[in-house]
Amino acid sequence: MADVVRVRFAPSPTGDIHIGNLRAAIHNFLFARHEGGKFLLRIEDTDKERNTPQAIASLLDYMAWMGLDFDEPPVYQSKSLAMHQEAAERLLKSGHAYRSTKGAEGKGEAVVFRLNFDVSYTDIVKGPLTKSAADLKDFVILRSDGTPTFHLANVVDDIAMGITHVIRGDDHVENTFKHVPLFRALGAEPPKYAHLPQIVNDKGKPLSKRDGDVNVGEFRAKGYLPDALFNALALCGWSPGDDREMMTREEMIAAFSLERVRPSPARFDYRKLEWFNSQYIARMPAGKLRELLEGELAAAGLDTSGRDARWWDALLDPVRPRLKTLKDFVPLVRTFFEPPETYDPKDVRKHLDEGNGRRVLEGLAAVFGAVADWTAQSAGTALQKYAEEKGLKFGDAAQPLRVALNGRAVSLPMDVTLFLMGKDEVLARIRRCLQRAGAAGT
Ligand code: GLU
Repeated sequence: MADVVRVRFAPSPTGDIHIGNLRAAIHNFLFARHEGGKFLLRIEDTDKERNTPQAIASLLDYMAWMGLDFDEPPVYQSKSLAMHQEAAERLLKSGHAYRSTKGAEGKGEAVVFRLNFDVSYTDIVKGPLTKSAADLKDFVILRSDGTPTFHLANVVDDIAMGITHVIRGDDHVENTFKHVPLFRALGAEPPKYAHLPQIVNDKGKPLSKRDGDVNVGEFRAKGYLPDALFNALALCGWSPGDDREMMTREEMIAAFSLERVRPSPARFDYRKLEWFNSQYIARMPAGKLRELLEGELAAAGLDTSGRDARWWDALLDPVRPRLKTLKDFVPLVRTFFEPPETYDPKDVRKHLDEGNGRRVLEGLAAVFGAVADWTAQSAGTALQKYAEEKGLKFGDAAQPLRVALNGRAVSLPMDVTLFLMGKDEVLARIRRCLQRAGAAGT
C-alpha cells in the first residue's frame, strides 16, 4: 500500500480552470497512470462565496471533457472541518501550536503554528531547497472563527488521502516550507514534491488575459479539442526526451516522468496550440468529426436534417485541412444552408461585369440542367467540359459561378461545392444572381 502512488488535483473551484491549473491536473494524471497509481480529485471548496455549486459543476464538467478521469469519488474539503479542527487541537496539545489573539481583533483566539526552525526539502523538479528559521514566521492554522487556513486543510487532507506526491504549480514553493513541518508535526511523512514551472508568454511574463485566452472554458468555446489542449499543455514544462510533439495519451503516459519536468518557465504558444488542434482534427475518425461538426451547425441554428451520409462523406475531406478550430467550420459551409444575402460588389464587377461572366452563368445553367445524376464528379466534369468547349480558363468559368453560388469568389473546391449545394439550389442561385446582379450592373 505504502508504495502505491497516490496523487491529487486540488483546485479551488471558481467557475473555470486556468490552463496553469489544468496543466497541473494533466501532469498528475500522466504521473499516476505511468506509475500505475491513483489520480484523485480534491475540491478545495472552503471559500463559500466563490465556490458555488455551479462552479463545482463546471469544474467536474471540464474534468470529464478533458478525459481526466479520477479513480475515487471527489473529496470535498469543506466536509472535513471537524478533521481540520481536531488536527489543530492535536498540534496545540503537542506544543507545535499555540493560541493567540494576535490578528484576531478581539474575536477570540486563533491557533498559530510555531515555525522557528530551518526547513529543507528536496523538490523533484527544483532540487534541494532550504529556508532558515530567520526567514520563516509562525502562521495561523485555525482562524478565530474555527475555520482552517489553506495550509492546515491542504496538509490534513493530503494525509487523510494518503497522498504520496504533490505535483502543483511553483507558486506553492513558499507554502511548502510551511507544509513540510506541518506534516512532521502531525506525525506524517511529507509527500514528495514536484513544483511545476510557471506558464509564461513569449516575453517570459506570467500568462494573463492580455495574452489571450487562459481558461479552459475559453478554449472550449473557441472550438479547441480537449486532446489538442491536453497534448499542448502536457508539453508545457515536460518533454518526452526526444522531439515528439503529437502524442497519443498512451504515448504520453508511457513517456511521462517528473524527472523530465524542467524547472525553467514554460512558454505557452497559442499558434502551437492551433497547430495541434488542426492536427487532431486532421486525424480524427470521420464519425467523431461529423458528430462535432453537426454540433457546430446546430449551435449556429442551421438545420442538418436531410444531409445524409453521402453529403457528409463529400464534405469531410475537403473541409478538414481548412479547420484550425471547430469554429472555422460554420463560415465555410453556411453557404450550403443559406443563399447569399448580398454579392460582393468587387467580385461582381470583376467576374460578372467586366468579362463574360453573365454569359458563362447562362451557359452553365443550361449545362447543369442537363446533368442527370448529380454527383461531385458529374457536376465538376460538366463545369470543366463547358470551360474547355468555350475555350475558357477554368477560373473564368468557376469565378462567376462562385459569385453566383456564394456571393463572393471563394469557396471549397468547385465539384464538392456543386454536389453539396444540390442541383436545384445551384440552378436557383444562378438564376437569382443573374437577375440581381443584372439589375445592379451596367
Ligand atoms: N487549491 C490550491 C490551488 O489550487 C491547491 C494547491 C495544491 O495542489 O496543493 O492552488
